[in-house]
Amino acid sequence: MAAKIAVVGSMNMDLVARAHHIPEPGETIVGRDFRMVPGGKGANQAVAAARLGAKVMMVGRVGNDPFAAQLLQNLDKDGIDHRFVFQDIEEATGVALIMVDESGQNSILVAAGANYRLSVQDIESARSAIEEADVLLVQLENPVNTILRAVQIGHAAGVIVILNPAPARPVPEELLSLADFVIPNEPETTMMTGLPVNELNQAGIAAARLVEMGARQVIITLGKRGCYFCNQTTSKYFQAFRVNAIDTTAAGDAFLGGFAVALAENQPIEYAIKWGRASGALAATRMGAQPSLPNREEVLQLISNQMID
Ligand code: ADP
Repeated sequence: MAAKIAVVGSMNMDLVARAHHIPEPGETIVGRDFRMVPGGKGANQAVAAARLGAKVMMVGRVGNDPFAAQLLQNLDKDGIDHRFVFQDIEEATGVALIMVDESGQNSILVAAGANYRLSVQDIESARSAIEEADVLLVQLENPVNTILRAVQIGHAAGVIVILNPAPARPVPEELLSLADFVIPNEPETTMMTGLPVNELNQAGIAAARLVEMGARQVIITLGKRGCYFCNQTTSKYFQAFRVNAIDTTAAGDAFLGGFAVALAENQPIEYAIKWGRASGALAATRMGAQPSLPNREEVLQLISNQMID
């Protein structure tokens, strides 16, 4: 039977427009193409895990507008159960307004909308889905109190809890210490610890700092340099898979999905870290967020083709 993963997180519609440059405050410019792409860290990680073979339950909140139905249909495409995605009759669905200039630089405004109304009551309604999961995956694009409740329920039920503390913001100690794994990238690590993460040895120091702050097991993802694992007894660097990277959008979400699926299938931590890295590396070889997320065969093939630690 497929491993079960519950994702409590955000769902957004990304509205992407391109122009020669990004307008200054007060400036109006005429750009080129416009696209709408389903996103949000929660939904991206749910799709990542579903493509890798898990049975995924999404817990979230959408608004009262046409984007809501489009986001639910998008989850359907990957077979993700959305019975606990609640619809808010007062708020809009979360959107990310993304402007991209000619050099590929972007400017993003996230209007969190319904994501910010995901409540403790919603989590209570979805309690059974969280308790029955093998792994619970959460991020920080919903109110912290709501996320904390989900993590408390998962922890009490013996579910493996993974916290991706993204976007970068302060994290209460209880949340850090209840999670079995805390998985930030470099800027998120710096935000939480106040420490730089430019060099590999700095990643080791920052990871140890997160453990001192109460995290039980930490994995700092380091882009093309791989990742760094640390707990009370072990500290270890893992190199990245070598790939031809063209767009690293959603590499982090792919890592989270891959790591979560392997753990949910009872694989050892080091092998799960390999799944995370393979999934992240494959996502970096393709354009976009969800379209770039790999399937199970691709991950297994990369792992067997490239012998790395
Ligand atoms: P985020 O998207 O959150 O910033 P990272 O860029 O750290 O996350 O990427 C997550 C993981 O994906 C990394 O730990 C690494 O294993 C893999 N990855 C990302 N970029 C590359 C790359 N250019 N080449 C190989 N692997 C990559």
